[in-house]
Amino acid sequence: MGDQLARVGAALDQLMSTPPGDAVSRRAQWSSALSGRLPHAGAGADAVVAELVDVVVPNGTRLVEPGFWGWITVGPSTVPVVAAAAASVAAPQRYMITAFNHLEELSLDWLAELCGLGAQMKGVYSSGGSVANLVALGAARQWAYEQRGIDPAVQGTGGLRPAVYASAETHHTVQRAAAVLGLGRANVRLVATDDQLRMRPDSLRDLLGADLAEGITPVAVVATAGTTNTGSIDPLRALGDIAREHGIWFHVDGAYGLPGILDDRISASYDGLDVADSVIVDPHKWLNAPIGVAATFVRDRAILERAFTQEPAAYLESVGHPDDGDVVVSLDAMGVPYADMAVELSSPSRGVIVWSILRELGRDGVTARIRGDNDLASRLASLVREHPRLELLVEPELSICCFRYVGEGQADPGLDLDSLNAALLRRLHVETAYIPSSTRVHGVFALRPCFINPRTTPDMVDGFAAAVVRIGDELAGA
Ligand SMILES: *Cc1c(COP(=O)(O)O)cnc(C)c1O
Repeated sequence: MGDQLARVGAALDQLMSTPPGDAVSRRAQWSSALSGRLPHAGAGADAVVAELVDVVVPNGTRLVEPGFWGWITVGPSTVPVVAAAAASVAAPQRYMITAFNHLEELSLDWLAELCGLGAQMKGVYSSGGSVANLVALGAARQWAYEQRGIDPAVQGTGGLRPAVYASAETHHTVQRAAAVLGLGRANVRLVATDDQLRMRPDSLRDLLGADLAEGITPVAVVATAGTTNTGSIDPLRALGDIAREHGIWFHVDGAYGLPGILDDRISASYDGLDVADSVIVDPHKWLNAPIGVAATFVRDRAILERAFTQEPAAYLESVGHPDDGDVVVSLDAMGVPYADMAVELSSPSRGVIVWSILRELGRDGVTARIRGDNDLASRLASLVREHPRLELLVEPELSICCFRYVGEGQADPGLDLDSLNAALLRRLHVETAYIPSSTRVHGVFALRPCFINPRTTPDMVDGFAAAVVRIGDELAGA
């Protein structure tokens, strides 16, 4: 295995040092090389590794490029990739008494501490923020229904009219979680936001009051610590206090932004985390883990077990017992019953991945990365503010900066800025090494770079701003 991994490793090093650019333009070549019918005779291991190295790896996504700022997930850093590969062989499952299982729990505790959660918050890993939100809202559902004498995991969700409170800036996986949990997408209320796109406590209070008067059962208030669109942080304390006052579960979605608390210039914006009943964070976002690692934290994992326990399965019962000196083979020694706390049974060891990141960088190293990324967003925001033909659409709180090209004042009513900026974005992707995404901010089309890639440098940000102005000028015919 070592030889093969070394060959693929060399190809990955090559990819990281000189990214091959857009695979779309080369599609005809790689897609024909990788087409054809199901082979009858196998090509053998060497041939497969050669194809991986020559055809597959060089035609991956542009996420690994230092100028890829489109999504909140980028190419992972090296150490966690190596840790994930090691785990996939040495401990393909997180269960049983192994060093990997031990790191599952240790890394969850470290992660909680890193992100400013109290030691009482205990976690469980899952594959990403989507599932982590689902698990957290499963706990919220359990709690709300149990208050009213119903066990929703056993009896289902009939009989009550539930509602979940979020904002229009909340990640859409919250709606999907509501759908999967039988709460209903349509029962996710969208609370109004302020100029900074943060959820407004007064609007939450109004909506809640109206719903309670109608006999609706609030299941959760979902605040976001670092929205996906703009990196805004909802006022956690004010929202959490309202939730508390009404006995409603308070969930904080920090999939992207929770590690932002490490930047002491903005850590005060996270005030109120201590009132959260559940919190999620995605190490595969700002901690640069390979995709597939998120964590849900709650105060008492017993509620997760009530919400997600599996029925007993005969094949999981052990033949041996730890007391018989049989620990090596005993499945009684499964360790913490993570499988009963979320929705996966078979599950990779993810703790070792997070542990490897925190062990490599320490709190100081992670903090330096987070601050550096926030600095890139502020740097861009200053360039935008100073430039007469650029407009900052919202003040960055974290590492996202939303802005657009506006031309010479807004004098020319014929200039359709949404279309112009959409065209500008396409040209950036095709012609330059800068790959932001877009979003809509206050109703208009925005360019949205999210700086989260440890290989991005400040001069790239300057080059990007210059490229936006140059292409914008060309498109506007200036
Ligand atoms: C990315 C994101 C999610 C979804 O996480 P995945 O890991 O993509 O499933 C949820 N909430 C927020 C705030 C996010 O940024």
